[in-house]
Amino acid sequence: MNLAAWVQKHGRDAASRPAISVGATVHLSYGQWAARSATLATGLRKLCGPGERVALAMTNHPSYLEALVAIWHAGLVAVPMNAKLHHDEFRYIVEHAETSLVIATPDIAAAVAFHPRLLVIDTPEWRRTCAGDAMAVTPRRPEDPAWLFYTSGTTGRPKGAMLTHRNLLMASLSYYADVDAVGPGDAIMHAAPMSHGSGIYALPFIAQAANNLVPESHSFNPAEIAELLKRWRQVSFFAAPTMVMRLVNDSTFAGSDHRNLKTIVYGGGPMHLEDLLRAMQLLGPRFAQIYGQGEAPMTITALSKALHSEPTRPRWREIMSSVGLPRTDVDVQVFDAEDRELPTGEIGEVVCRGDVVMAGYWRDPAATGATLRGGWLHTGDIGCFDAEGFLTLKDRSKDVIISGGSNIYPREVEEVLLRHPGVLEVSVIGRRHPEWGEEVVACVVLHAGQTVSERELDGLCLSAIARFKRPRAYVFLDALPKNNYGKVLKTQLRQEHGQLGSASTPGR
Ligand code: AMP
Repeated sequence: MNLAAWVQKHGRDAASRPAISVGATVHLSYGQWAARSATLATGLRKLCGPGERVALAMTNHPSYLEALVAIWHAGLVAVPMNAKLHHDEFRYIVEHAETSLVIATPDIAAAVAFHPRLLVIDTPEWRRTCAGDAMAVTPRRPEDPAWLFYTSGTTGRPKGAMLTHRNLLMASLSYYADVDAVGPGDAIMHAAPMSHGSGIYALPFIAQAANNLVPESHSFNPAEIAELLKRWRQVSFFAAPTMVMRLVNDSTFAGSDHRNLKTIVYGGGPMHLEDLLRAMQLLGPRFAQIYGQGEAPMTITALSKALHSEPTRPRWREIMSSVGLPRTDVDVQVFDAEDRELPTGEIGEVVCRGDVVMAGYWRDPAATGATLRGGWLHTGDIGCFDAEGFLTLKDRSKDVIISGGSNIYPREVEEVLLRHPGVLEVSVIGRRHPEWGEEVVACVVLHAGQTVSERELDGLCLSAIARFKRPRAYVFLDALPKNNYGKVLKTQLRQEHGQLGSASTPGR
């Protein structure tokens, strides 16, 4: 098997359909893409031996998908990298993965110029590499790696999750089973980085010969998304929850016509209930949630579009606060610290197994053994199942705050603070405390022009959660620090605001 065969098939059965578009213009049809893939693969094989790694240092660009599929076509392994990395981080990944070649977009080529073999898109060398003779798709075994997914690395050194052709096939098929149907004439817009969820979710759309839309700005721009929705129909896209809220809070997007918007697949970080309800008020039930991680590419649980459209269902608000049900053919359980299965309602580490789980970490047997011990992927996420089988995530285990021996899940506190109409964003972290171990600090961003007092927020918490969970200090910020994938960087918040507390501790 080889994922690249999908494009070749559509070169025959859907040759004239738009395959990759930039802004309002078709860049390649499926027929053209199939031809390009076969010739670019030949060019790449002149530069790399069989099975070697090719890193992608690219912002979202129409050639991203051309390069990705040609790498597979040639029997090579892709190493997509977050375009916003520091050059030392690029160097670490490129060297760790022992890449033979780096393909870069011109805007970030300088950051990877250290590599002896660099191919920059849109240069004469790129065009020469694309213009070879056509080659047939290289046969691959299902267990051969296709994509080394370097974890976003908000802590420690990134590790390369080896995603095989089978992993990506299963993730794509289960998109149709659990998230949404994809039909002829659909499009996926790559407004979020293609090195992450947007690239993974290109695959179920490519398998159906759908159109891949790349915004001209190559980034996430609400006004541009509104424009693209005028030109193209049946548009779906992947967005981190923080991106969804940027859309909802953007007046141009909010006031535009949403008829051509089919589905927003959100995930990659917690979506707070109040935010989801606001988003659905504006856009209707056009949402599906996924929970996954690089190690099980975006495929552990899902909250389908259908469930989003059933507000009269009992416990609907609880269900909307969950990450949904285990994906088709993925076993999901909650384990205690000794890897024993916990009963419904008890909180522990979320583990999963199935054909979507990575083969291991590239050249890191110790981390592979620890993460895949007993045949289960240990996600590092803390959660519990309810009686109906919905999984609710509490937090990353490293984000849980332990104060006076009690676990406090930041998300629970964040949900309460977000109920205040003046609060735009919030992230709750732990700060070291000499007596309690840690104390709760809320980093709050207010809507423009709003003033909200700490006393008001404290009152809100007292009305909704146990006293010991409420923040002992508030830090008001202009914005929360986020990585390129829209994830809030709690590590950075902890570094900046988590030093030994001077805040007094009101009565527990
Ligand atoms: P990454 O491997 O960079 O995609 O990060 C995966 C992590 O993001 C997971 O282990 C979770 O901690 C978090 N995550 C992913 N999806 C969700 C979701 N739907 N809700 C809450 N957290 C999520």
